[in-house]
Amino acid sequence: MKPAQTDLSPRIYGHFINGTFTAPTESLIDRHSPADGSLLAQFSAGTATDVDHAVAAALKAFKGESWADMSGANRAKLLNRFADLIADNADRLLRIEAEEASKSVRMSGHEVDMVVDMTRFAASLALTAKGEAHTNLGPETLALVTREPAGVVGMIVPWNFPLVCLFQKLPYALAAGCTAVIKPAELTSSTTLEVAKLAAEAGIPAGVINVVTGAGTVVGEALTSHPDIAVISFTGSTAVGRKIGAKCGESIKRVALELGGKSANIVFADADLEAALDGILLSFVFNQGEVCGAGTRLILEETIADTFVTRLAERARRIRVGHPFDADADMSALIHEAHLNKVLSYVNGAAADGATVVCGGQRLSGDKYDKGCFIAPTILNNVTPDMRVFQEEIFGPVLCVSTFKTVDEAVQLANSTDYGLNSGVWSKDVDKLLSTARKLKSGTVFANTYFEGGVQLPQGGVKTSGVGRENGLDALHEYTELKSTVVKLGKRQPALAHTIA
Ligand code: NAD
Repeated sequence: MKPAQTDLSPRIYGHFINGTFTAPTESLIDRHSPADGSLLAQFSAGTATDVDHAVAAALKAFKGESWADMSGANRAKLLNRFADLIADNADRLLRIEAEEASKSVRMSGHEVDMVVDMTRFAASLALTAKGEAHTNLGPETLALVTREPAGVVGMIVPWNFPLVCLFQKLPYALAAGCTAVIKPAELTSSTTLEVAKLAAEAGIPAGVINVVTGAGTVVGEALTSHPDIAVISFTGSTAVGRKIGAKCGESIKRVALELGGKSANIVFADADLEAALDGILLSFVFNQGEVCGAGTRLILEETIADTFVTRLAERARRIRVGHPFDADADMSALIHEAHLNKVLSYVNGAAADGATVVCGGQRLSGDKYDKGCFIAPTILNNVTPDMRVFQEEIFGPVLCVSTFKTVDEAVQLANSTDYGLNSGVWSKDVDKLLSTARKLKSGTVFANTYFEGGVQLPQGGVKTSGVGRENGLDALHEYTELKSTVVKLGKRQPALAHTIA
């Protein structure tokens, strides 16, 4: 096993405001490794005053000529340079992300690549963004529909994918001409601060990207209620999303919410079962199940259920759980002790409610596990919609299995939670596959696959999984305001001419 700490641990940071780091505050937030307890980093505990300074810097950068008024081509050049620097620093960023957010470094290598891809894609949007000209309003009237940058964007980000969740927002807002104040999660702020520094090195002007670290109830709330913030873009739990949405409603602030999920995979008896076994395993163990879009419910056609569950459990038992830097670990520790206890309490509650624990379900102990928050992949069988584990997001590697007899019953089960982020459907019958996909209430449907796609595809949820879309062209639109400009050509407006001539 490699040592827990990177060459930079423990890291101590101030905030990043107006192109430079502030001195670390006296009050610091410690981040200990959830895999071995070592001190990894210390972050400044920000205040509402720090938010005021950051917003003032962002507003100055927005109003100045250096960003919102820069040509799209020049913004694209700077975004591409930013992407180059992230790629050059990929290994270091990945190691910091892996130890701080507790990720198997082997399984999360693609995350920095995704960040680079999103930045380059957003650069292409900066270059090609355009409005509309309406020429069918009569011979003497022309209208232009333009998109203008919305202003300063407050970005509030969770701990499970600190960089990926940030980059589903940041490059798109920058491409649109907006500036940003970012509040990373209090446990996982390092990579956000590191990339802010890289942005400055890439030549992105001071004040365009600012980072204030600290508690959600202090820094997050100060951002949400700040009068100079035009848009709040939030990724996190549905509970906090509700509060943020309500707060933004008070001042009619634009808000985008990327929230929790309880996604279901439906497997029909005529599916390629080998592919389905692989896909379902990945869908609930990837990032130890701490994924908003994880496939944490499995809805199996009754005729294949027993065999499928037995074979899935065999595979789940072979998942290697280890330290983020273990070369062969598939999964690592949960984010912290309290979260591990919450996950275990869901499992124990389900067992008490009548579900069967097929595998996992307990904290791992002994040898390399004693200092960390480790749990093995857990499968709960005989789960029914009235159980909490069927309805609520557990955010751990826990799969809940239910069965169906008819297509309608499968769809009804899949749709019967308040969430609507992802769904999966598995069948070799294309008619059945697509007709089922159309009935599933979720922002994304994976058909005979899971967790695939690309930066071009809009991503987001329906129902309590959120409002708004990230990635794709829609991500740029989240950060623009539409303006219609109507132009009279030649003659004066008739009514006006009649009244005052
Ligand atoms: P969380 O809601 O507890 O915290 C998210 C962020 O909000 C953190 O930075 C936190 O400090 C901040 N925050 C907390 N209270 C706040 C308040 N009152 N005002 C403003 N900000 C506040 O979520 P988490 O535990 O960090 O992350 C896990 C959750 O995120 C899960 O529910 C998961 O499904 C969701 N998530 C969703 C997506 C998506 O794209 N839909 C992606 C990743 C994670």
